[in-house]
Amino acid sequence: MRRFRPTVVEVDLDAVRHNVRLLSNPDVELLAVVKADGYGHGAAEVARAALAAGATGLGVALVEEGVELRDLGIDAPVLVLTEFPPGSEKEALAAGLTPTLYTEEGIAALSEAASPTGRPVGVHLKLDTGMHRVGLWPPEDAPAFAQKIVEAGLLPEGLWTHFPDSEQDAAGTLEQLERFLSCHDLVSAAGIRPRTLHAANSGATIRLPETRLDLVRPGAALYGLDPGAGIGPAFGLRPALTLRSAVAMTKRVPARERLSYGGRYELERETTVATIPIGYEDGYPRATVAADVLIRGRRYPVAGTITMDQLLVDCGDDPIAPGDEVVLIGAQGDERIPIEEVASRAGTIGREIATGIGERVPREYIG
Ligand SMILES: *Cc1c(COP(=O)(O)O)cnc(C)c1O
Repeated sequence: MRRFRPTVVEVDLDAVRHNVRLLSNPDVELLAVVKADGYGHGAAEVARAALAAGATGLGVALVEEGVELRDLGIDAPVLVLTEFPPGSEKEALAAGLTPTLYTEEGIAALSEAASPTGRPVGVHLKLDTGMHRVGLWPPEDAPAFAQKIVEAGLLPEGLWTHFPDSEQDAAGTLEQLERFLSCHDLVSAAGIRPRTLHAANSGATIRLPETRLDLVRPGAALYGLDPGAGIGPAFGLRPALTLRSAVAMTKRVPARERLSYGGRYELERETTVATIPIGYEDGYPRATVAADVLIRGRRYPVAGTITMDQLLVDCGDDPIAPGDEVVLIGAQGDERIPIEEVASRAGTIGREIATGIGERVPREYIG
């Protein structure tokens, strides 16, 4: 379909490649986490850029996401970060997705789906070392569990865990790492030797080099999203995402008029109000307070309640006109609005803003 609205996400694949190179090194493999459509950036495009820059595999949350990457012709290893849901095993294996395992039901279902193929299936055993989301708990059960994997005719190729607070809590994260490594020792002592150990998400990859092990598993950092606490920009990550639109209409509105639903923004003086065709349906949160946008290289405040498809900007007496480019996230001239700024004014994090940008906003690629 032809596009008539100027609202777009622009994704800079050069930035993705730069971030991949920054996060990897010759001794450590990088698995690019492209779940949730590549954190809203477009999974296939980001996957191809990351693989071109040296990533050796991809991570997804859903079997469906992995199958979609295959349908788009991507044949790199794809690790599904939870167990295959019951009933999905055959399709997931047919698509060549790598399974994660942490329950006995999971082992049974997978070995049943795998046996007719006659091919040995490599799996990654996930240990819960403190996140308490999914994973084998307590992790010290790993040797017995790994033994069951072997008995079921599956190959334990990977052993991994996940950190809940690597951005902030270095000591707690290193304790988790210790526990993980001692569980690995137990598994080795039982004669089972998974060749790939992995634990590090973006925060750990950046802050705690000892967590990098054989492979790192960054998501946020690939896209130049700050993993937390400002560590991303300090590390030299480059944001890949720009959210832009254009002024659709302007009008002079006198003092004491109120703008938008609920009349919550009263003008103190006459001003030029610009209407921008983007709203909360597009993922610009209605809850955002005191956000700015960039027009002609300057900051202007979003004014009044953000509506489903449009928002208003208070442009003062500046000569803003229909057609002027509006940057809601990203750079324009020398000014920049980081995604974390919009996120903090909406009471959330950059990952939620990026993944929340609506499907009706087209993604365009540069670099
Ligand atoms: C999402 C996810 C990651 C990536 O996390 P970031 O903090 O975005 O780097 C890594 N591992 C698992 C298991 C995940 O769910």
